[in-house]
Amino acid sequence: MREENCIFCKIANGEIPSATIYEDEDFRVFLDLNPATRGHALIVPKEHFANLFEMDEEHCRKAIVLARKIGSRMMEKLGCDGLNLVQNNGEAAGQTVFHFHMHLIPRYKEDGAGITWQPGSLTEEARDELTALLAGN
Ligand code: 5GP
Ligand code: ZN
Repeated sequence: MREENCIFCKIANGEIPSATIYEDEDFRVFLDLNPATRGHALIVPKEHFANLFEMDEEHCRKAIVLARKIGSRMMEKLGCDGLNLVQNNGEAAGQTVFHFHMHLIPRYKEDGAGITWQPGSLTEEARDELTALLAGN
């Protein structure tokens, strides 16, 4: 299913051209227009899911397997020193395009890409409250 006016629906389904590095029945992988580093690419399903929570498990499985495949290709061909997988859900988390996508960001020593946070500290109180709240199988 596609959504009217969704840019990633159009790109993933080939209505808008993109610098594609991989395509199959379910996904397209193409270069990000505003790359954080050399080789920054996006894994995008052809079907419209607004975010991770809307996506079915089969697509979730395929997305991570694909991330490993393209990620290892990047490690080999770009000679990068590492790779970040980034996947934003919701405006508060930095999502700007509301069609599921996973960033593949090759990392190079001292590339200065700011994919980081200020480490806090986990108090005993917070630890106990959060484990009680979130624990479960
Ligand atoms: P988000 O912030 O939602 O996780 O990431 C959206 C990403 O999509 C950004 O890195 C942005 O540069 C990229 N992007 C947005 N529009 C386009 C586009 O039309 N073409 C391509 N190739 N990338 C896009
Ligand atoms: Zn879409």
